[in-house]
Amino acid sequence: MIPGAFSYHRPATVADAVKLLADLGDDARPLAGGHSLVPMMKLRLATPAHLVDLHAVAGLKGIKRDGNKVTIGAMTTQHELLASDEIGESLPILHETALLIADPQVRYRGTIGGNVANGDPGNDMPALMMTLAATYQLIGPNGAREVAASEFYQGAYFTALEPGEILTSVMVPVPAAGHGYAYEKLKRKVGDYATAAAAVVLTMSGGKVATCAIGLTNLHETPLLAADAAKAVIGTSLDAASLKKAAQAAEAIMSPAADARGPVEYRKHVGGIMVTRALQRAAGRAK
Ligand SMILES: Cc1cc2nc3c(=O)[nH]c(=O)nc-3n(C[C@H](O)[C@H](O)[C@H](O)COP(=O)(O)OP(=O)(O)OC[C@H]3O[C@@H](n4cnc5c(N)ncnc54)[C@H](O)[C@@H]3O)c2cc1C
Repeated sequence: MIPGAFSYHRPATVADAVKLLADLGDDARPLAGGHSLVPMMKLRLATPAHLVDLHAVAGLKGIKRDGNKVTIGAMTTQHELLASDEIGESLPILHETALLIADPQVRYRGTIGGNVANGDPGNDMPALMMTLAATYQLIGPNGAREVAASEFYQGAYFTALEPGEILTSVMVPVPAAGHGYAYEKLKRKVGDYATAAAAVVLTMSGGKVATCAIGLTNLHETPLLAADAAKAVIGTSLDAASLKKAAQAAEAIMSPAADARGPVEYRKHVGGIMVTRALQRAAGRAK
């Protein structure tokens, strides 16, 4: 449970962090809250020779609303998301999801940037960011670029981040006024990763679903957008038949690992239940 030896670097600017990562190459990893990376190092599943700590890098923290977009600095902690009035008002599903991550000790240190950049299928923020149509801002040796959350995840722990790139912020469009939302997460105990989880953001008009997006956590090697499941409820009043169709369409794209959280069939089954519950709760909140 003791990590291998490593050198510690503490740059003060994004440019310095990028230069260090580029110069040190594959042996270097950015360090944010350390609540995914350090446990991996203790288990020797990650053995970086250099850690580039992002805590002193200027400009990577904060939450700012600009028109219809909320920009969240990568080093903003999960605790800071929970304490933010802006997040509570503009993106209540982000508040709800952050509260379901781990426990207060992890949330005081864990950052939104680390959560979405990590690439662990068990992280809760990635599927939510896909549901919200968020964009990630990246800076690397070749300059700055933006990648949609829906295009960022390529496999377990494998993302669109290029060597030397860091994620600097997450940009989230504010959902329509009166939208309904819910993040439903089944976990074995408080503080655990999801056995299965579903995010829903929808709007209702005349008692029927007008728009809908559904994201799935820990039900595949990457987070998923359940587009067919969302289509199955659009134009319906979320009657039993359309809810069943949506759950079946979502289950059809799930391929969770069989692990200590349960066998594949069980996890798909409870995944469908999370989708149903999230749809019902979101519809109940829509105005
Ligand atoms: C007991 C426990 C329970 C947990 N339960 C949950 C849970 O239920 N749900 C959940 O979502 N998470 C859970 N976590 C993980 C926690 O939320 C982590 O904090 C989060 O996954 C990673 O964020 P971090 O800031 O700690 O990143 P780190 O651990 O510092 O980094 C994670 C990875 O991302 C890379 N990285 C970090 N920041 C950047 C950046 N800005 N740009 C590029 N790469 C970057 C690092 O190099 C590393 O590879 C749990 C952790 C613990 C210890």
